[in-house]
Amino acid sequence: MTPEANAVTGEDYVALENRYTSGVYGKQPIVLTRGEGSRVWDVEGAEYIDCTSGHGVANIGHAHPVLVETLARQAGRLVTAPNGFYNPQRARLLRELVRIGPSGLERAYLCNSGAEAVEAALKFARISRGRTKVVSTMRGFHGRTMGALSATWEKAYRGPFEPLVPGFTFVPCGRIQPLEEAVDENTAAVIVEIVQGEGGVNPVPVEYLQRAETLCRERGALLVVDEVQTGFGRTGRMFASEHYGLEPDVLCLAKAMAGGVPMGATLLGPRVGELPVQAHGSTFGGNALACAAALATIHIIESEGLAQQAALRGNQLMDGLRRIDSPLVREVRGMGLMVGLQLKSHAAPYLAALARPVDGVGILALSAGSTVMRFLPPLVIEEEAIELVVARVAAVISER
Ligand SMILES: *Cc1c(COP(=O)(O)O)cnc(C)c1O
Repeated sequence: MTPEANAVTGEDYVALENRYTSGVYGKQPIVLTRGEGSRVWDVEGAEYIDCTSGHGVANIGHAHPVLVETLARQAGRLVTAPNGFYNPQRARLLRELVRIGPSGLERAYLCNSGAEAVEAALKFARISRGRTKVVSTMRGFHGRTMGALSATWEKAYRGPFEPLVPGFTFVPCGRIQPLEEAVDENTAAVIVEIVQGEGGVNPVPVEYLQRAETLCRERGALLVVDEVQTGFGRTGRMFASEHYGLEPDVLCLAKAMAGGVPMGATLLGPRVGELPVQAHGSTFGGNALACAAALATIHIIESEGLAQQAALRGNQLMDGLRRIDSPLVREVRGMGLMVGLQLKSHAAPYLAALARPVDGVGILALSAGSTVMRFLPPLVIEEEAIELVVARVAAVISER
């Protein structure tokens, strides 16, 4: 028995958190205390294959020894280094981001989350273009702060907070004609994901992305690609833009960027131009601890070939899920280890069933919308673990 279990039970922690939390999250009653690689453990010691990665964050796996060592070393040296001064970790990370980013991106702004990376993109697009309109996509998700929320489609997220930032229009994702009609001489930016994550794991058609790129060039807008979820190896390439040779003017990154330490970045191409001093800023953005963590994370992704792993294991997972013969399954889709299984009914009961440990091991997965089971495992997930995931998904679907 672990010392934590002696002190307080899982039920106690659930009650404690429920008592004091803001209440903005739906939760499963599982108290996570530890992780290693593709696995996490709860306070009672039950093991889970983690197909959430903390919402696509733990791409390098939990408690990676190189990240652990880097964090300890950097924490003992310097955690905060304000942006009014210089710092070796930040300088190196900025260079690394430009090196690994899609071609054409040459500078970066550092922040602490996906929504902040999107906020920066929107502000930079406005100030760079001297225009205020933004074209976004139906079912797109870009974050919960007021600017990022304005670019987010889902009515349930937006509705209670309207009026939002003016100037946003939404076009059907994948259809060229409405896009052509929406982008005009007042458009500062077109913002798009490569695979819509929260919106249901929908890969965006390549023709749409390529047309958005040329339209932006022709009409003087910036192409903002939101790779907050698809970045850092998740889809089988370092960035999903690479699959299509896209050259975004602005690239938004976060989630897996620093191995779980909160961090975001907005990468900028030449069409953004010079940004005035004081145009934007962040107290924590580019702190030395997060920069060191991101440097280690990028090194791990490259040296362990994790993008290639994501492609291999992702194909294994999608093939396996597609072989499940059930009238309940509508579609399996995705890219790399960003995989969605759409059901003909609500996903929540199946996700709860999947989490229940069988022979000591449960499986944690996410939803995306109400009917999609979403799998975002660490890219280090083993072949046998994927096999088990497929078998267990098949079992919970046929049991009900
Ligand atoms: C998660 C996500 C965001 C928001 O990131 P936060 O760190 O939660 O603010 C933005 N865009 C996409 C595509 C995301 O998946």
